[in-house]
Formats: sequence, structure tokens, C-alpha cells
Amino acid sequence: MGVSDGASLVTVAGGGDGPHDRAGGGDRPADSLFAEVVGQTRAVAQLKAAARRPVHAYLLHGPPGSGKRSAARGLAAALLCPDGGCGRCNTCRRALAGSHPDLVVVERSGASLDVDDARAIVTRAQRRPLESDRQVLMVTDVHLADRAAPALLKTVEEPPPATVFVLVADDLPASLATIVSRCVKVPFDAVSEASVAAWLMDRGVERDLAGSVAGASGGRLDRARLLVSDAGFVNRQEQWRAVPARLDGSGAQAAVVASELLELADQALAPLREEHSKRLAALAEQAEISGSKGIPGRKQVEDGNKREERRWRTDDLRFGLATLASVYRDRLVATADSDDREHSSGSAAEARRSVRQIEAIGLASIALDRNANESLLMEALMVELSGMVD
Ligand SMILES: [Zn+2]
Repeated sequence: MGVSDGASLVTVAGGGDGPHDRAGGGDRPADSLFAEVVGQTRAVAQLKAAARRPVHAYLLHGPPGSGKRSAARGLAAALLCPDGGCGRCNTCRRALAGSHPDLVVVERSGASLDVDDARAIVTRAQRRPLESDRQVLMVTDVHLADRAAPALLKTVEEPPPATVFVLVADDLPASLATIVSRCVKVPFDAVSEASVAAWLMDRGVERDLAGSVAGASGGRLDRARLLVSDAGFVNRQEQWRAVPARLDGSGAQAAVVASELLELADQALAPLREEHSKRLAALAEQAEISGSKGIPGRKQVEDGNKREERRWRTDDLRFGLATLASVYRDRLVATADSDDREHSSGSAAEARRSVRQIEAIGLASIALDRNANESLLMEALMVELSGMVD
């Protein structure tokens, strides 16, 4: 259908809502704005469409490490660029780097987004943009905003025409239902293992390592990035693979192996701890520049770091268990292969044993998710696997 007369053009434009409306080029925003967002085809398509005809508030939600912040910066570039997100101009570049004055990133000052944070956001939303037609207010960790939510609601619901909210949340707690209902939701999934592996290989990581890091990443790019530079990662994987050969049927040896595996999980925390202390140092520097005594909310930040470390450790144990299960699965496949060739009587019993071992590991992994006591859990599992050796 062609648009041949001026009248229909007016009709199309008449549906707009002032400064939020922009006629974007057909191929704008450029793909390059979302180059850092991995394996989120649906979310990126939604954001590109949104940039051509933006509304007042977006809520990007999904698990940590799924690329929400990169995507939010890409959307901001598209909204601020005079050319609808060319991906090349100075505006696009600064927005992607997070340094454009009309992209305001609000991070919580303590353990949660509190009422003071909400007030700062409300004040900032009223200001006029400095360079562009509009400003983008990106608020992170909105899932931690229950106390701030009432103070934010009215502004998010109806910001000044030149302000667009881009809220970012790991999940959507029921306490935020009202705010959530006022935004266009853009869901992000955990990144698939294949996408994480491809992303690592694009960055020059060799195939085998990319595959195992992807498996251990739990669909989190931030975790993959740390693991790939973690010198101990390959060693930990080998230690887990060696477990079946080390279990000799004695309870004492099972206990030794269990405690070594827990020790490995502690070692896995080193790169994360290093990143945490760098972040704390940056906060301290910031506090010093702004003249405040100590880091505001330091205890909450440290508590948050401890929570993340516990999660990280559990993730590492879970990956170890998956690695261990794969050793028994390989045995099962080998048994089935040899069974094809010669109908040995022992192979059926061997296959049953491998199946039971894989099941026991699966149950331990589920118990880990339920916050079981890790030492008891690992020791019980090793004793169980050990009792099943030949
Ligand atoms: Zn541009």
C-alpha cells in the first residue's frame, strides 16, 4: 500500500504524543547498539520497535547476567541519537558507554532502593534534557524497591513528556505489581549454553574451554566472563572428574574427597571476592570525592556481596555435581556400547549402578537448591557413591 496523498501522512503523524514520538528510519536503531546483548533475539526486537515509537516507561526484567543493562544502554542510545540510533555518532557512542548527560543511571545507594533514592529519581525526572530531545532515566535493581515503590509510582506512571524511564529488575516481586503494571515489560531469559559458548569463542576462547565455561555459567554472561579468566577453573573441573576413580569404598576416603570438594568451592570464590573489593574501593573513592565520611550503606553493600558469594559457591558446587554426573553418564554409554557387542552378564548390573549414581547426584543437586547443609550433603553423597563402587 503506497502513501500518495498528504492527508494520510497527517493522519499517521496525528497519532503521536509530542516529544515521545519520532519517525525512525527503517533500519534504525542499528543492530550495533545491541551488540553486547547475547541470545536475546525477542527482547532486542521488542526494544528496537520501542525505540521507533517510545512510551513513557520500560521494565527490562530477567535473571542476573542476561544482558539487561547493556540492552538498556542500547535503547537509551536509540532514544537520544538525533538519527534514531545510528550506532556511529557521538551521542550513540556516549550513551553506550554510559557517559551521555541525558542518560541518567540511578543505582541504589544501599542494600535496597530506598525512599531517598526514590526522591532523587523524582527530582531528576522533572529536569529538562541537556543535549537531546529527551532524557532517559535508567533505574537498576528495581526488584529491591518495595519501600521506594509508592514514592516512585506517580512519576513512573506519568513522567514529564521529555523523560523516558528504563527500569531494570532481576525479577518482579508481588510488592511491585502496581509499578510493573505501568510499564511496558521486556522479558529477558537466561542466556542459553550454546549462546554463551559462541560468545566466548567470538572473543577468542578455544572451543573446549568455551563449552565448559558455558556449562558452568548457568546462563550468566557475568559469571562466564569471570570463569574464563579464572586460572583455577579447569583444575576444579578435573578434580570433579577424578572423583569416581578416587572413591575406594571406604567411608574415610569418602569424607576426605567430600571435604576437598568443598575446599574447591571456596577457592572458586577468589575472582568474585577480588571484584567485590575493587568495587568497594571505587565506592570509597567516590565517597571521598563527595566529602562523605565512609561509604554510605557500607554494611548493606557488604551483606549483598556475602549473599552473592554464597550463591556463587552454590553455583560452583552445582556445576561440579553436573560434571560428576557426566562421568557416570559416559560410563553408562560405554556399558551400553559394550553390551551391543557382547552380552556380558555383568554389564546390566553395571548400567543399573550408573543410573543409581546419576540419580543420587541429581537428588543432591536439588537438595543444594533447597539450602541443605553443604558439608553433610557432600559427605553423604560421597559415601553413597562410594558404597556403589565395584
Ligand atoms: Zn547515533
